[in-house]
Amino acid sequence: MEDLDQVVVENFPRYLRIPSVHSNISYDECVGFLKNQARGLGLPISIHYFFPKKPVVIITWKGKEPHLPSIMLNGHMDAVPVFENGWTCDPFGAEMDDKGNIYARGAQDMKCVSIQYLEAIRRIKKENVTLKRTIHVSFVPDEEIGGFKDIKPFVESEAFKKLNVGFVLNEGSASLNNVLPLYYGERIRGVMLIHCPGQPGHGSLLLEHTAGEKLIKILDKFYKFREQEKKKLEEDSRVTIGDVTTVNLAVIEGGVQNNIIPPEFTLTIDCRIAITVNLKEFEETFNEWCKEAGEGVWIEYQQKESQVPATKLDEFNSYWIAFKKTADHMDVQLKPQILMAMSDSLFANALHSPITAC
Ligand SMILES: [Zn+2]
Repeated sequence: MEDLDQVVVENFPRYLRIPSVHSNISYDECVGFLKNQARGLGLPISIHYFFPKKPVVIITWKGKEPHLPSIMLNGHMDAVPVFENGWTCDPFGAEMDDKGNIYARGAQDMKCVSIQYLEAIRRIKKENVTLKRTIHVSFVPDEEIGGFKDIKPFVESEAFKKLNVGFVLNEGSASLNNVLPLYYGERIRGVMLIHCPGQPGHGSLLLEHTAGEKLIKILDKFYKFREQEKKKLEEDSRVTIGDVTTVNLAVIEGGVQNNIIPPEFTLTIDCRIAITVNLKEFEETFNEWCKEAGEGVWIEYQQKESQVPATKLDEFNSYWIAFKKTADHMDVQLKPQILMAMSDSLFANALHSPITAC
């Protein structure tokens, strides 16, 4: 193994052994690890706090023409929780098997990508090459729980403006062959709480306009819509999950005791809206469904994003041209598509900086 390979198989497990999994993550160890990385690469590091204990870490490699818009390589430091009884190895052991596979929570999503950014820089620097544009490698907290608290103030801050970001690369998904999914946009997430108030009373009666009847009517609308979207996906192999809108019932709340008709049921609907949908019209449709479900049914939006245009993959986007040229040179096929879930790039995209993820 070359020295550089040795460095990466030591660095990557070291990052994985930091248990930065939800909930109540302490990011101190991640920050310490990244400070060491920056020192090893001979690059400056800055740490920004927009909320206590939620660091946004930036390692910067200055380019030959630093006045040009920079490239940001983004990664999140957090990972989803671990249920240890479902694991056959220590989720924070980061042991390598004899095939060279390394197992740990967060290995795929997405500490491997952040380590790839750093190791790519290490290799290019070793060749005594300085890139034209400045590179900022960002490490952000709490992506797995929405990132709203931390990423939004970051991308709206003066500190972010000063980075003069022109292009962001963010996480995508893995591929088993040389066809890589390339995500150039994200669906819009909406979380709706649908309140279904109704006539309360004793469970022995057949009252009119109960919360339960309204619940069924509104759910029926949502599930009929869901069926239509499912059909679009099943009937055309070119359509991916990112191209359709998904609605799913996530929570039902309400009820007092088992012989009482409650005054209200509340449904939580998780909604991922395709970028081709007209949001205003979509919202009007929901309001119409509420009206049809019965008196007093209304929607409270727990999360409501605005429409974000996808990155343009055309000849006017010089970043895309450069990216595509390199992919072609590496004989890697790119499969452009819309990301089915949501990641931090939505926020950077809101600043109209071109985004892609791969
Ligand atoms: Zn991720």
